[in-house]
Formats: sequence, C-alpha cells, structure tokens
Amino acid sequence: MAILDIMLYPHTILRERCREVTQFDRELHRLLDDMAETMYAANGAGLAANQVASTQRVIVVDPSREDRGSELLELVNPTITAFLGGRVVGEEGCLSFPDIYEPVERYEAIRFEAQDRHGAPIRIETDGFLAIVVQHEVDHLNGVLFLDKLSRLRQGLAKRKMKKRYGGTDLHRRLGEE
Ligand SMILES: [Zn+2]
Repeated sequence: MAILDIMLYPHTILRERCREVTQFDRELHRLLDDMAETMYAANGAGLAANQVASTQRVIVVDPSREDRGSELLELVNPTITAFLGGRVVGEEGCLSFPDIYEPVERYEAIRFEAQDRHGAPIRIETDGFLAIVVQHEVDHLNGVLFLDKLSRLRQGLAKRKMKKRYGGTDLHRRLGEE
C-alpha cells in the first residue's frame, strides 16, 4: 500500500466529473487500499478519487472518531438516491483545503447505493456524521467542493487563505513533508 499525494485547491482535477467504474480488478483494489491508507495518514474522515488524481467514481469514508479503521466503507459508483430529514449546519473541512473549516448546510439523512470492490451492491440509509461525509465525498466525484456551498464572502476568504499559503495552481500535498 502507498500513501498518495493529495491534490490541493485549486487543482483542476478537483473540478472534474469522475467516470463510472466498470472494471473491478486489482488496479481498483490497489486504488481503494491506497486511498484508505492516505485518508488515515491525513487524519480525514473521507477521500474521493479525484483528490488523489484518479478520475474514477470511488470514495472511501470512515466516520469513526476513535478506533480508526473500524468503520471503513469503500464505495464504488456511489449515488445518493434520497435526501431525508431536515437540513443541518455543521463545521466541515476537506483534505484539499488543509486547516480550513467552514459551516456547511447538508441534509441530515440520506439513502445511497454503491458497489463494493467486487461489484456487489451496497444500499444504506443513514444519518449523523456518515450521511454528511458521504454527501461531501459524492459532491467531489461531480466536481463540486464544499467551498461552493459557502457565501461569496466566505468563499473569497477561503480562496485567499489557500493562495497565500500555497500560491500557484495544480499543487499537491505530500504527506509527511510539511
Ligand atoms: Zn473534501
């Protein structure tokens, strides 16, 4: 397994719409393994493939706060099939925006479908933190960022912070080098 570089905003791949996975092969399994390892190394609760420069519809999530690894979900071709309950506002971060946390509004519960690493169907209805993380990560696969959900003012501040800290475009972050 390997820890992958994480693409930082405003890397253009973060705006790409990822492609449906059709091959459930060793290459996909390696991507899933590496994504999980990278998510844990970065101390994140979720990671989408385009954040590690792959444009496949793949996410890994783990909403557990303690005992990391105990609630790992590998979701291939995930789709949210229903938004349920009311809207809730919670503080959100993103591994492509290190150290930036902003209040974001999401649905409190969702139903989603996906496939596991072998192509078998997964159907889950959930609320709480898992529901929030899955909404954030599925957005990534459609080129949508949490930044897009902020007010113009907050967007401007976050963009300036990223530019000041990292400068340039198409940057990535190598864990362990900061
Ligand atoms: Zn993110």
